[in-house]
Amino acid sequence: MARILITTGPTREYLDPVRFISNASSGKMGAALIAAAQARGHETIVVSGPVRVEYPPATKPIWVNTTDEMLQACQEHFPDCDGLIGAAAPCDYRASEIAHHKIRKTGEPLQLTLVETPDIVASLGKRKRADQWTVGFALETEDAHFRAITKLQQKSCDLVVLNGPQAIDADENSIQIIDATGGVVAAHQGSKIDLAHQIIAVIEQRLVRSPH
Ligand code: C5P
Repeated sequence: MARILITTGPTREYLDPVRFISNASSGKMGAALIAAAQARGHETIVVSGPVRVEYPPATKPIWVNTTDEMLQACQEHFPDCDGLIGAAAPCDYRASEIAHHKIRKTGEPLQLTLVETPDIVASLGKRKRADQWTVGFALETEDAHFRAITKLQQKSCDLVVLNGPQAIDADENSIQIIDATGGVVAAHQGSKIDLAHQIIAVIEQRLVRSPH
């Protein structure tokens, strides 16, 4: 049994009091991973951005809006966890300054300056203890295998789950699980709940230590 921190859903970065940038993440893969982990006897700590999907009833998500808030919540809880599954799609950019009032139309193009937000999986991966593990996701459209391995290395992940854009908001998906040597450990296609069980099974085999 492991205590697993799971990030899920998108984050939002506000431009002004009413507008934000975000992405199309539904949280469905996160919900499936939470359900599979719980069904297999693991404890889950869930940090979620705004989603419509329902998490399993026993889940008490820590709700966040921005990528910074997601990072803060993860930094607070990761030390008490055995590992992290980064299933969230945090917004990679935020406005360099959030307007205090609603931005008014002027008839002219609007220039925004966006700056990068912190990478949560990379931040936690960099500081993980020897007894902790991190698993990231990579959604790639081209050079998928190469890009997934690069991401695994850059983010210090133990495993990366590679999938394609067809995953977004879908109930079915197809994945490859890649380890630190670049080898494909498993490849599966099916419902997100089936895939979640496959992912947790690989984590159990390769990363979870003997029962506490
Ligand atoms: O770089 P990319 O967004 O494709 O990487 C995807 C992986 O990195 C996912 O596991 C996602 O949860 C994580 N990520 C993150 N913080 C970000 C961006 C991505 O943890 N700011």
